[in-house]
Amino acid sequence: MTTILERYRSLHPRSAQLHSEARGLFPDGVTHDTRRLLPFPLYVREAQGCRKWDVDGNEIIDYVMGHGALLLGHCHPDIVAAVREQVGRGTHYGACHELEVRWAQSVQRLIPSAQRLRFTSSGTEATHMALRLARAYTGKDRVVKLEGHFHGWHDNLIGTPTADDPVPRAPGVPRSTSRNLIVIPPNDAALLEPTLAADSDIAAVIVEPTGASWGTIPLAPGYLEALRDVTQRYGVALIFDEVITGFRVSPGGAQARYNVLPDLTCLAKVMCGGLPGGAVAGRADIMTLIEFRDDPEWNSSHRMAHPGTFNANPLSAAAGTTGLAIVAQGDVHRHADGMTRRLVEGMNRALEELRASGCAYALASIFHIALGQDYPRPRDGVEWPFEGGLLPSRMPPQLAMILKRALLNEGVDLMGGSGGFVSIAHGPADIDATISAFQAAVAQMQRERIIQ
Ligand code: PMP
Repeated sequence: MTTILERYRSLHPRSAQLHSEARGLFPDGVTHDTRRLLPFPLYVREAQGCRKWDVDGNEIIDYVMGHGALLLGHCHPDIVAAVREQVGRGTHYGACHELEVRWAQSVQRLIPSAQRLRFTSSGTEATHMALRLARAYTGKDRVVKLEGHFHGWHDNLIGTPTADDPVPRAPGVPRSTSRNLIVIPPNDAALLEPTLAADSDIAAVIVEPTGASWGTIPLAPGYLEALRDVTQRYGVALIFDEVITGFRVSPGGAQARYNVLPDLTCLAKVMCGGLPGGAVAGRADIMTLIEFRDDPEWNSSHRMAHPGTFNANPLSAAAGTTGLAIVAQGDVHRHADGMTRRLVEGMNRALEELRASGCAYALASIFHIALGQDYPRPRDGVEWPFEGGLLPSRMPPQLAMILKRALLNEGVDLMGGSGGFVSIAHGPADIDATISAFQAAVAQMQRERIIQ
């Protein structure tokens, strides 16, 4: 029997070669932690629609989709045309330009709480900026985040507390910074009030509004409402990190889907049509902390500065404005969500046929796979069952890596090996081919006794 690993090596000799060069250049030979894959990752040459092709000529149905940025698929013709047109007219004017106004108008039209906004260069910058604003507004220092929720890689929001030390630990982050980060378990609404009541120095609570790691561990129904209520009563800013969910889980993001409005929202990914960028949007009285006043004392001591060379750069603005115009038309979500439903139903059917433990679940066009555990499969469509507060566990990274490799052998690429993002470029035939690939990959994992 040829193993998953042997087949992976034999299908990808040119990727192996490139990776051996890359290892002398980048730590681990990669440029983003989650692109690390053993024994080597694939090197992609080209992408179009829902597909990409690696340097060995293998065709792959893609569910990484630009780490969730490509709701409209690779190379959407309108975005390609807009970027082509813009690149010849200048990529940086060092000045205000009309497209930044159009781009911001489309964000404001779609995101219910976006009274004002500022563009940044990434999602990480957006969460960094939202925290700075919340701290400047409240005059307080500390921030509450939920266990497992990811908000980018700056000092303020990373680190994990240990059993003996509640101060989150992250190598390279000063302990004095981490002391300001309070990490609480998600989904325990009863914990929120005592947490805020116990500490008068809390500026903000930040969450991924569909749950940890792009919804891998979903939030319980009613949790966001509880969070909104308690933060309001304690004068604490509520920040939704909608870097993943913005424009994806509904045209107006999670806040429109659940009708819970945060004070500040962090955006990136889908907003930028596949190019780099981000934004913080939110309440006018908070955002205007960035404004100059006719008051030197305000300007030097109270105003929050916000520069950034590539903020609202014309290329991202062209891609973003074009992309959001398509998102606003409404068909995008119907199609991508429907394809996701078909995919998850098919994956669960495959698991059933193979008598493999595990399940697939989804929200809108984001899906997750948890192999090797007996979490109830969604019975009715794809919505989270959340029976009795029961939660899935994250797939162990080792297992996710094997699934990723096994599926790459079958011509499918998952995000991190445990799920992915569906776009408008995925059609029924692509989804059905993915379900067959999944069935073959899981069967192979069973044959190798990696899972039962
Ligand atoms: N917040 C969330 C919820 C994210 O998923 C990410 C990135 N995946 C970020 C923030 C950071 O965004 P970026 O990678 O653009 O810095």
